[in-house]
Amino acid sequence: MEVKIYDTTLRDGTQAEDFTFSGDDKVRIALKLDDIGIHYIEGGWPGSNPKDAGFFQEIRNYHLKQARIAAFGSTHHPSTTASSDPNIKALLDANTELVTIFGKSWTVHVKDALLTTLERNLNLISDSIRFLRQQGKTVFYDAEHFFDGFSDNAEYALATVAKATEAGAECIILCDTNGGSLPSHIQNTISVVKQRFPGISLGIHAHNDCDLAVANSLTAVEMGVVQVQGTFNGVGERCGNADLCSIIANLCLKMGYFCLAPQDLQKLRQVSRFILELANMPPDRYQPFIGRCAFAHKGGVHISAVVKNPKTYEHIDPSLVGNRRRILISDLSGRATIKQKAEEFGLKLSKNDPVAMEVLEELKELENQGFQFEAAEASFELLVNKTMGKTKKYFELVGFRVIDQKQSEGKDPVAEATIQIRVGGQLEHTAAIGNGPVNALDKALRKSLEKFYPALKNVELVDYKVRVLPGLAGTGAKVRVLIESTDGLDSWGTVGVSHDIIEASWQALVDSINYKMYKTEKNNSYR
Ligand SMILES: [Zn+2]
Repeated sequence: MEVKIYDTTLRDGTQAEDFTFSGDDKVRIALKLDDIGIHYIEGGWPGSNPKDAGFFQEIRNYHLKQARIAAFGSTHHPSTTASSDPNIKALLDANTELVTIFGKSWTVHVKDALLTTLERNLNLISDSIRFLRQQGKTVFYDAEHFFDGFSDNAEYALATVAKATEAGAECIILCDTNGGSLPSHIQNTISVVKQRFPGISLGIHAHNDCDLAVANSLTAVEMGVVQVQGTFNGVGERCGNADLCSIIANLCLKMGYFCLAPQDLQKLRQVSRFILELANMPPDRYQPFIGRCAFAHKGGVHISAVVKNPKTYEHIDPSLVGNRRRILISDLSGRATIKQKAEEFGLKLSKNDPVAMEVLEELKELENQGFQFEAAEASFELLVNKTMGKTKKYFELVGFRVIDQKQSEGKDPVAEATIQIRVGGQLEHTAAIGNGPVNALDKALRKSLEKFYPALKNVELVDYKVRVLPGLAGTGAKVRVLIESTDGLDSWGTVGVSHDIIEASWQALVDSINYKMYKTEKNNSYR
């Protein structure tokens, strides 16, 4: 059995707060979605903004492997006719073979939002679809607020479906626009629609206001709908749309439907990240299936079992959706964890290895001081190397000084760092200005090292977190700094702890740089 996936990340998704794409981004995303086999891509609402109209023009220059692009709009305005309506005209101008229009199913909306009569609304649906069909379009009809409308006046809601079907809509998508329905309501409603209109193609479009959008969508599929609409990562108006990542994974892996080929399913995580990256939005690490923590094991009991047989604490093989297992390091860890973790880095340890014992002791001591390695795997790897006597010193610090100068009340302060390091026998003295003391220090350090180690040129800090540790109160407290760095291919986390925020940052920065150098050497030696 096949279920078709209709992605509306580029339209409904961009109705989320703080979530936008440039025209170029939209094209890049559409190509990615096409690449993994998403069947329909809703490109935007050409009648509502010029950027969307531009997208439809641009995407025509590309050859898509299989996806069909849909333009989105509404039934024509009550005061116009279909052929004279500017919104319908914009839909035609988008020049797509497929058009999706939404119309009203709920009497409250007809009267209070559209300000027209129930009869007139039926005509709007009918006339708009008929007109678009005459222009050679395939039409999907989004029955907006269908489930609320059905609760309020079932006969009227069903009458709108009858009109859309008679007028030639190819698929009727039942929408839980306000996201307030429970799965049982979705089930009962679809069952009545199917009895009344046997043989028509139905779809589902669910919003997540009750945290049920995925459950409602899957329920609808069980009831026989053949198209699921949603967005990647569940972004969208208010609490968002149904998350296609979870829907696709469940359909393919749990319910036996065919929607993406297995090799494309493995790209699910990568495409999800790509979209978030372009939207400049951090990924949700706890996202089911594809989040960084979806297969992360922390408890000692969990880890020792999962190492023996992953099924003990994993509901699927993480690689099926492009994710991976992670073993977390914390004070809950035992020797088995250290051994397992070391193996992840390609270091062989036996469980009774004295090095494993030593790492464990060191780890517990550092955690007492406030270090945490769960998000700082790079610092942990360096720690294991150090214990095994494998560390290399890439540079030696002679000294640094950081000045943060505020010259008048209204002006931003300027930070300047000077640093002296020694690489081999050579002394290097460098200064840099930054938008804060840590930024200045980071710049000065990397500037001074780059000529010795060109690989550092690509390294960038992507995240910097400071956490005040419980213990001493106020400004006398210890802080933990977590830094995430990237070289464009990989990202890694490092940690530092001190009473002094600059010192804690320095430790994390040095680990970050040492890790990059160590990784570069390791990769080169493999070649
Ligand atoms: Zn929606």
